[in-house]
Amino acid sequence: MHSLGAKRSAAARALVEHVRRRGKLLISDTTLRDGEQMPGVSFLPEEKVVLAEALEKAGIHSIDAGFAASSDSDFEALRLIAAAAGNMVVMSLSRALQSDIDAAARALASRAPNARGISIFLGTSPTHRQYKLRKSPDDIVRMIEDSVAYAAERFRIVAFAPEDASRTELDFLCRCYDAAISAGATTIAFPDTVGILTPKSAAAFVRSIRERVTLLDRALLAVHFHNDLGLAVANSLAAVAEGADIVQCTLGGLGERAGNAALEEVALALHLHREEFGRESPVHLEQLTELCLLASRLSGIAPPPTKPVYGANIFATEAGVHQDGILKNADTYLPYPPEIVGRRDPVRVAIGKHTGLSGLTYRLELLGITLDEISTNLLLSRIKKMRRPADADDDETLRALAHEIGLTCAAKGEK
Ligand code: MN
Repeated sequence: MHSLGAKRSAAARALVEHVRRRGKLLISDTTLRDGEQMPGVSFLPEEKVVLAEALEKAGIHSIDAGFAASSDSDFEALRLIAAAAGNMVVMSLSRALQSDIDAAARALASRAPNARGISIFLGTSPTHRQYKLRKSPDDIVRMIEDSVAYAAERFRIVAFAPEDASRTELDFLCRCYDAAISAGATTIAFPDTVGILTPKSAAAFVRSIRERVTLLDRALLAVHFHNDLGLAVANSLAAVAEGADIVQCTLGGLGERAGNAALEEVALALHLHREEFGRESPVHLEQLTELCLLASRLSGIAPPPTKPVYGANIFATEAGVHQDGILKNADTYLPYPPEIVGRRDPVRVAIGKHTGLSGLTYRLELLGITLDEISTNLLLSRIKKMRRPADADDDETLRALAHEIGLTCAAKGEK
């Protein structure tokens, strides 16, 4: 038993060193688990398979694919993903219970030991201990040791997540992590379950964990932020800057309440600021737009037009000065080339209250309409006098307005 433990910890240390040496930041997607906890979202098992395959193709290292013990549908989805996925790590969530761990092991039985894992969660904050679990700190540590050790006999990859970590006393949190790693956890997670941290406090937690968890050379550190303050992505990046190994995200930031850290935003920011972070994610950015739209279609959650990366307005402008600049050179008013995230449609020039002559001329050209400068100016002033100038953004309305102006000018010319 002792030599098996020593062998395991040597293997875990080698794995951790390998990941840290490669200098890659790993992205773990939890769209299929935490994303699905969003009210109104419920993926069919076959839809989960489609998403899992798309995530793997996009370079995602591991997915939190469901909670085997929670429902027949989750169990079935995990079983199907286990059979369909390639080398990616497929994880099941589990309470600190033998029956949950057994269910996860059954659902993922068909996968190779390095391509499956289990993620055990247990509330550690005073609120969770006192009101939800009614357990003492010592009881909690014992539950962690027992469940992680039981899981480690069945899984090579074992993650432990102290639920509500961001509201747990730091000393006790570090004690829980050391107990988990000592019992065989290969990843420890830091979940900001209620999304209460700021970049500064998130960074401080990661720094303290790295300083104080004595066995951290044997386990990867994953972080998990919720977006209640609109800071999930910022907090994730702050944690990366402090040396977190894995960021847990969801596509489009789907998730409970205000959602999770958005995978596409984290991956894009890491790429654009790769020198600042010194590490890149292995995500294939050019697949992000399609991947997010797929998640949007399957979840039924449409992104707001302002959604970074794949919102309808991200590469659109209505302001005359911006339109003129963008039409001369897109870099003038875009933060990055749209092709980076797989957007192939040209920058959208919208018609509205602030549209200028070059923007309108461009839109007319797209419709195959040529007006002389006087007529284009007339059309522009006509649009600006409309009660809602943005109504002219619709192609058919614009065409009809241009046609009227053309007729008026022709009639005047005949006189
Ligand atoms: Mn969560």
